[in-house]
Amino acid sequence: QSGIELLRNPKYNKGMAFSKTERDRHYLHGLLPPAYMNQDMQVLRVMSNLREYTSDLMKYNHLMALQERNERLFFRVLMDNIEELLPIVYTPTVGLVCQQYGLLFRRPRGLFISIRDRGRVMELLKNWPERRVRVIVVTDGERILGLGDLGVQGMGIPVGKLTLYTAIGGLHPSECLPVTLDVGTNNKSLLEHPFYPGLRQNRVVGEEYDELVDEFMEACKARYGSRVLIQFEDFANHNAFRLLFQYRGSHLVFNDDIQGTAAVALAGMIAALPLTGGQLSDHTFMFNGAGEAGTGIAEMVALYISKEAKITIPEARERIWMVDSKGLVVKSRMDSLQSHKIPFVKDYPAHSTLLECVKAIRPTALIGVSGKAQSFTKEICEAMTEYSQRPIIFPLSNPTSNSECTAEQAYTWTKGACVFASGSPFAPVEVDGQWHHPGQGNNAYIFPGFGLGCLVAGTTRIRDEMFLAAAETLAGEVTDEDRKKGLVYPPLRKVRAVSAQIAKAVASKAYEHGVATNLPKPANLLEIAEKRMWTPQYRRYR
Ligand code: NAP
Ligand code: MN
Repeated sequence: QSGIELLRNPKYNKGMAFSKTERDRHYLHGLLPPAYMNQDMQVLRVMSNLREYTSDLMKYNHLMALQERNERLFFRVLMDNIEELLPIVYTPTVGLVCQQYGLLFRRPRGLFISIRDRGRVMELLKNWPERRVRVIVVTDGERILGLGDLGVQGMGIPVGKLTLYTAIGGLHPSECLPVTLDVGTNNKSLLEHPFYPGLRQNRVVGEEYDELVDEFMEACKARYGSRVLIQFEDFANHNAFRLLFQYRGSHLVFNDDIQGTAAVALAGMIAALPLTGGQLSDHTFMFNGAGEAGTGIAEMVALYISKEAKITIPEARERIWMVDSKGLVVKSRMDSLQSHKIPFVKDYPAHSTLLECVKAIRPTALIGVSGKAQSFTKEICEAMTEYSQRPIIFPLSNPTSNSECTAEQAYTWTKGACVFASGSPFAPVEVDGQWHHPGQGNNAYIFPGFGLGCLVAGTTRIRDEMFLAAAETLAGEVTDEDRKKGLVYPPLRKVRAVSAQIAKAVASKAYEHGVATNLPKPANLLEIAEKRMWTPQYRRYR
């Protein structure tokens, strides 16, 4: 390619960074202003522009336009400014983007597969321009963040997640495929919206739905091989657990809302131990929300505790209490409980409100994964300080508007005593002259490095121990200095280096469990992971 075509191809375009020789050889003179500008300067220029925008949605648009113009510059900007820009390409802004997707739509990104495409999913995969896909993130848009059913507009999520696979996990952009399955939506206002870009029908369920998913899963394997990693994302929980159990024996799949979240949350709790004192098995856990995230985290905590305290998993689960929309998960409700809650059922009197539950059980760790904003009230946070000097309070619901409480509320109400982490970012808070830096239990700490680890080992299946290893590695990257500020996660600016460590740990576990195929096992997994990571520096064209 040369001339204008080169400038219009985001994969190869460098804008004003084309050198004189490149401009000579590729017929670019006159098509660019005469000056030369290196990538560092371009990054500064983009950031100066971005900071002019007062709305996050505008920043998102500006960034996406850059991605369509100059891919390497886009990733360089993102990687160099990850703390500032993660909230733009990911939660919370990506939530807004999904809600307004139909209006914002300019150019498609990702692969749209609708229920009408049954029987020809493979054809659609063949339309995708890349052949060497290694990671697929797929949603059906039914439970986007805590925002509910957004139908095909959920596409913002797989697109955002895969951006992070590249920026943080170092996958080549062409190895990443975002997919949205459009099976309709039950969101009435979207169905009536003139700009809604999906099928205007209610969600298809049952056999037809299952057939589409199945055809998709088989087509992915046929097209990209059995080692293509498929991440289920933001499915409603009636499908999420079911699909995970169905495919984890035959495909390389995981569900980020169940397993990725679990690893991130567990890491935060392990990292909190030097602050709270004791071991994780000394804690009593209460989850507000017993869905994908809630039971996912709870199972991972139980697995960890069982190893830590050398007890069985059912014994470990004794320390974990679940609260759902109907109250405490107890035996008298057994008949109407979904199966993922059953392992945590307690023989205990029923309690309905969270406050009642907290007062009865006296937890030392309270985790919010209900999507219900402001459910950690002042009374609840104050009560937590009676059961522990340093209670763990993690309001994880996303986006910010759904958070169970804000950082300021939690720190103020507990007089700075709580160990805090949230799902969406909050600014530092001052209480009685002391600054607290709220950590963000962001899944981006885990899945990019996890995926990289899977690729490094050439793993064919996923084991829970691989997530456990990822969580322990992440927790191990938190320093005492971080903890002094209140942080139970390493600073985001280190996330790429942390991801390489996670990749090493995950790959290593894959070998241990006999699911790795890149044989023999190399001695230097960390080096291999680091070397595999793509960097967006410009190449020289000859
Ligand atoms: P989910 O599977 O739909 O589960 C939601 C759970 O919350 C259900 O158990 C539901 O009860 C319960 N619930 C709803 N309203 C409630 C209320 N008023 N009081 C108590 N419980 C209530 O959803 P999910 O995938 O677990 O996600 C839940 C939230 O976690 C979302 O906001 C999501 O953004 C967030 N999340 C955060 C992270 C992170 O920070 N890293 C990762 C993943 C998810 P029933 O079972 O009775 O319906
Ligand atoms: Mn999710």
